[in-house]
Amino acid sequence: MADAASTGLSGKSGKVVIRNIGLLLSGDIDKPILDADTIVVHDGVIVAVGKEAELDTDEPDLLIDARKTCVAPGLIDSHVHPVFGDWTPRQNQLGWIESTMNGGVTTMISAGEVHLPGRPKDIVGLKALAITAQRAFDNFRPGGVKVLAGAPVIEKGMVESDFKELAEAGVGLLGEIGLGSVKGGTEAATMVKWARKHGIQSTIHTGGPSIPGSGLIDKDVVLEADADIIGHINGGHTSLSEQHVCELCEKSSRAIEIVHNGNEKVAIAAAQAALQLKCPHRVILGTDGPAGSGVQPLGILRMIALLSSLGNIPAELVFCFATGNTAKIRNLNCGLIEAGRAADFVFMDRAQHTSGATLLESVQMGDIPGVGMVMIDGIVRCGRSRNTPPATEIPVVVGAH
Ligand SMILES: [Zn+2]
Repeated sequence: MADAASTGLSGKSGKVVIRNIGLLLSGDIDKPILDADTIVVHDGVIVAVGKEAELDTDEPDLLIDARKTCVAPGLIDSHVHPVFGDWTPRQNQLGWIESTMNGGVTTMISAGEVHLPGRPKDIVGLKALAITAQRAFDNFRPGGVKVLAGAPVIEKGMVESDFKELAEAGVGLLGEIGLGSVKGGTEAATMVKWARKHGIQSTIHTGGPSIPGSGLIDKDVVLEADADIIGHINGGHTSLSEQHVCELCEKSSRAIEIVHNGNEKVAIAAAQAALQLKCPHRVILGTDGPAGSGVQPLGILRMIALLSSLGNIPAELVFCFATGNTAKIRNLNCGLIEAGRAADFVFMDRAQHTSGATLLESVQMGDIPGVGMVMIDGIVRCGRSRNTPPATEIPVVVGAH
């Protein structure tokens, strides 16, 4: 039998107390900063958040002194293309998921296992792959990261019973619509409705072809298909015009997914459009990695710094794009600091020698923060990140038994 450490699955964390938090980001865009300095966790779940004097912090199995650093919900990458294990054939890299955990990401969501060499495109084959990928990542978490995979790329000829069968087998996501043979709005809309009826969430590719062999999905197809997530609204890589992207934000009420792999100018325009339309809760972030642009362990942190600095959006709001917004839209039990949620946290501080005086100020100036620790399900998965610039201060484990 594989043990918890080798599979990355959660063991029992017991009672964990995190005290002396300097800044607690909630993940909730309606109230992004909490007036609290302590979190109490039991067996991987947050049980209390508040002031230390008001909470039961006695006899923890693990006591962490945050040393006045910032604690935020673990970051969620809404758009990745995993295959199996911690390997990507796209750039032939090993360890990319564990490396991304060092960038503060604790949950990843597959937009399709499209890089699998020899990926089956017949209907029985694509269903089998989706079910296998869902099972494989449910049983194995590289670096502890929760990879929600098993996202079939829909093809012509699928019927409603295929979606029912997938849902009953535990598949909860569709791969990006448009990467398979279904590229027309009407046909996609029919399948999106079948998926939704059976509880499967859908994402559509938006913009120009990603690689030779794939195709364009324009704004009219996105609107007609009406998928739950407007996948990489800023393109992956090539974006629709800024005007069409803003039109999508306005005419659709679906999630606005902005990715690292897309057009950065349009990324900023889309986020600003969402704020102007008073729907900042619709914005979610992804990398779209691994891809032609490579593996991006710091991709989500870089998106946060980009949108906050050049997009002129307060950093505490942008962190919500990558945490609570995604959790709410995708019905995940993480992404928010509140009792009952998974104890998935990233501890950060301003990077050494940034010109920003505080963590939030440094991000608003365009610098990425230093990660000092990552916790998933109440278990410490890494200390000082090997990938971010060094954090000025890092949390310490002061007691464990
Ligand atoms: Zn795509």
